[in-house]
Amino acid sequence: MRLIRLIRIYPVVVICLLALVYLLGGFSNQSDQLVPKSALITLLYIFASVVPLLFIIGFIYIGAAGNKVAKQSSNSKSFNYQSVFDLPNEQMSGYKLALITGRNPILTGLTGDTYLADASASCSKDVNHVPPVVDCECGFYAYRDLDEAAFELTINPGSFLLAVDLYGVGFKYDRGYRAESQVVRGLKKPSRCQHCRILPGKVFVTNYRMGYDDTTWWQWQFRCLVCSNSHKAQDKLSITQMEKALTVVIT
Ligand SMILES: [Zn+2]
Ligand SMILES: [Zn+2]
Repeated sequence: MRLIRLIRIYPVVVICLLALVYLLGGFSNQSDQLVPKSALITLLYIFASVVPLLFIIGFIYIGAAGNKVAKQSSNSKSFNYQSVFDLPNEQMSGYKLALITGRNPILTGLTGDTYLADASASCSKDVNHVPPVVDCECGFYAYRDLDEAAFELTINPGSFLLAVDLYGVGFKYDRGYRAESQVVRGLKKPSRCQHCRILPGKVFVTNYRMGYDDTTWWQWQFRCLVCSNSHKAQDKLSITQMEKALTVVIT
């Protein structure tokens, strides 16, 4: 600001200087001058070139300082943001658990939301949300580490392990991600029958389950030949048939 004020008075200073030079005889051709003419002209040249140069340097300095301040303030803003979520700058590949429910099998989160193999998240709390929203829970979740998901699998025995890629806007947690859209890369079939937990699994079967509020739903399990023996043909799917139904590769 002070610099701008100085620039405003610059023409006045120049006029005063010119007047001074005139009074001192800088423009006359008399030889009996108080100050030599060449010295006065040199002084004018210096003033005309050096002072604007000083202004330019001043502006560059102020500009740089302003940038620094702006940078610091934007840093502090993004710091507050990152204290809640971290925007990832890496590929969001992860793992998660899902149930397979429905008469026609569909992937279902442990919270009960169903989704296709390639889907964009929607918010059940606010239709105006395009997930993920910072102070909401909406969006697709995934653990970053296989170990973490594998541990969750041991305490959720009816569920399946999925490998997923997340896309779009995403937030990064210390354990994983929450993002806008999701593509299921694959479903890992359990090595053992999900019913007897002894024999190797061979086929998917579905059963009625009693849920909360007296509702029932179909839940699919991967079972051995013995534990799937009593199921009717329409309640069974081979691995290939399940891959087709879910459009997910089963490994
Ligand atoms: Zn939401
Ligand atoms: Zn079994």
